[in-house]
Amino acid sequence: MPAPKAAPTEENPPLVGLHEETLLPGERRTFTSPAIDPAVLAALVGKAVAVVTITSPIELPGLASGRCATIASVASIGAEGVVLEGHRRVRVVSARGAAAPFAATFTPIDPAAEAGAAGQVAATVRTARDLLAALDGARPLVPIDPGRVELALAELLRAVGSPEDLRRAQESGVTDALAALAKRLRASQDHAAASHQLEGAVAASVKAAADPELMRRLWSQCVELMRRLDLYDPTPGSEENDVARLQRRLMQAGLPREAKETAKRELRLLRQMETKNHDYPTYVLHLEWMAKLPWHPETLPSPDLDKVSAALEREHSGLGKVKTRILEYLAVRQLGGRAASTVLCIAGPPGVGKTTIARAVAGALGRRFARVALGGIHDEAELRGHRITFTAAQPGRIVQAMAHAGQATALLLLDEIDKLGTDTARSPTGALLEILDPEQHSTFRDHYLGVPYDLSNVLFVCTANDLHGIHPILRDRLEIVELEGYSEREKVQIARDHLLPRLATDHALPAPLELPDETLAHIVTGYTREPGVRELNRQLAALHRDRALALVRKAPVASLDAAEIERVLGPVRFIHRAADTNLPAGLAYGLSVSGDGGRLLPIEALVTTGQPGLQITGRIGDVMQESARAVLSYLRHHAAELSIDPSRLDGAVHVHLPEGAIPKDGPSAGVALFVALLSAVSGRKARADVAMTGEITLHGRILPVGGVKAKVLAAERAGLRTVLVPDENRPDVPTGLQCTIQYVHHLAQIPSITLE
Ligand code: ADP
Repeated sequence: MPAPKAAPTEENPPLVGLHEETLLPGERRTFTSPAIDPAVLAALVGKAVAVVTITSPIELPGLASGRCATIASVASIGAEGVVLEGHRRVRVVSARGAAAPFAATFTPIDPAAEAGAAGQVAATVRTARDLLAALDGARPLVPIDPGRVELALAELLRAVGSPEDLRRAQESGVTDALAALAKRLRASQDHAAASHQLEGAVAASVKAAADPELMRRLWSQCVELMRRLDLYDPTPGSEENDVARLQRRLMQAGLPREAKETAKRELRLLRQMETKNHDYPTYVLHLEWMAKLPWHPETLPSPDLDKVSAALEREHSGLGKVKTRILEYLAVRQLGGRAASTVLCIAGPPGVGKTTIARAVAGALGRRFARVALGGIHDEAELRGHRITFTAAQPGRIVQAMAHAGQATALLLLDEIDKLGTDTARSPTGALLEILDPEQHSTFRDHYLGVPYDLSNVLFVCTANDLHGIHPILRDRLEIVELEGYSEREKVQIARDHLLPRLATDHALPAPLELPDETLAHIVTGYTREPGVRELNRQLAALHRDRALALVRKAPVASLDAAEIERVLGPVRFIHRAADTNLPAGLAYGLSVSGDGGRLLPIEALVTTGQPGLQITGRIGDVMQESARAVLSYLRHHAAELSIDPSRLDGAVHVHLPEGAIPKDGPSAGVALFVALLSAVSGRKARADVAMTGEITLHGRILPVGGVKAKVLAAERAGLRTVLVPDENRPDVPTGLQCTIQYVHHLAQIPSITLE
């Protein structure tokens, strides 16, 4: 709004009524009929006029005497209406005439005389400021032009007052109207204390009218107070109610500059819109999201690694290495080295505690926890949201999670980062990279929000089942900590120390179930076959439910022996058959790893008299072909030592992998391929209780492979007695296993261990 021009000099300008509208000093506003009749003012453009608020034309001229009017100048008259600039208030002495504009006489008003006794100005300023500080911390005062204090107050009243308040402002001054408004609001319980302060501040401002600097300070404090406390005469269910509620919440949210501009613009739009307008709910929803989001990081206590360590110990058995890695990661982050820009990624099969570890870390760091499921997201828009113009648009998952957490320093768990879709043109990988990149995440843009959102205070943690599923660029950003699964013994321990006490509480049993370790081991091996403990937890929960039912029915409680467990959980599901079966010649057990953990990889080989050559079937890749060729060459070369007939290898050699293997397991299946082929050629059967892993060279050396822990655990789960592991993989083998590990370094060692 441009600064008002100097007041016109005419002492007694003509009087005109403003129907249901008010013009206050300092304001420049446009009026259209029926508020005002442009024809009446046509001759007065550039001249002064006195305007008085009326509710009916019959009030003029007779009832105008004694009331107050605003001296204004008619700035322009056009298609948009009459533009009037208010200058000062005057009291009407008399008015006469048959039609507008009326001839009238006025007397000036002395604001100081009107003010009466004012309170303690300085004290009021202090209390108002204290109140503001308590609400929101010190905020910079809104600077206003000292020459426009009156306008500022008028704007304040217009923003928060009703038409009645404006009328009152014309009659007895803006400050009086503000004071009256505050008094009225004081009656409302909710705002009693604040309104009282406000009233004091306004009373002081009356006295302070002569001091522009003081007025300016008071003004900004009043505005802040009134806006923040939503003092807009709320009427439930009305349009104003939505707007006022949002305005208050947005003020409390303390939006940064760009977001604030957007919110202001939308609030303005809402005020002008009818609630029936189909865009109305769209903007309301958009502003609700803005208000809901945490914009300001609270100061977290500096991370206490002892506390994190204690929390991890308390909630998770074992996992020594993993816990240490997490603490190291947090320490590096705290020191702020370059490595600190990487993101922690906890990788491992389902049910090994990835989520609960992240949750425990969040709790110990004082960060709230929110999870973003990335599995199956194929479109960037799911991460970043759709533009507000889309039907039923919503923010993306990141912003939703932040709103859910309600804390700008939350820990966001990006779950299953390996399942992020990469197969479409609108792949979300780029968005995720931006989110995780410290250079960019402070200005993350969600399409729906439409303004930057700062993610730099968030602690991101990812989880993955299969590291091979992660895009290489993304993988580069990650600090990977692997959890490969638990041995039988570890599972028993987890069940005893964590699952059983928790289940007893969840089922409100008076005491935990008495399950000795042997019984737990029986449940682990007989009813579950998983790297983690999720299914185990389910089985144990079934036992708890059964016990709860017995308690409620007051039925006798049987001790939990094998028969009782079978009654509740059904017949044993997994029998360690492998150890007892006789394998046909040409079959050997390799081991593979996938996102679900390790598993047995049976390899079948058949040597026949058909078309010469090597044929490999099943889900395999080129690497498997190469391994098989190397094995064949090795067998040919060492036929004598191995007591085989090399000519048999000249026939048709068929290798088949009946169960889904993954190409990357190709090289690590070298030893198993060797055993299967040797068994096929020699007719000697492989032992059914032995599994093996290891890459081979043409000269028979056995090289180390990945995923050893997961593979060994899979062999243990399958009930095998012996696992062959490359010598160099010694450090990867867990302790406390139920099976024996034989370390091997050359194929020459293999036949004696593996063949019957
Ligand atoms: P993930 O995220 O890896 O799929 P969860 O974190 O959901 O697995 O864990 C599944 C359940 O197993 C949780 O109830 C968790 O508390 C429990 N759990 C897993 N590992 C451990 C452990 N080492 N100690 C105690 N409880 C564990």
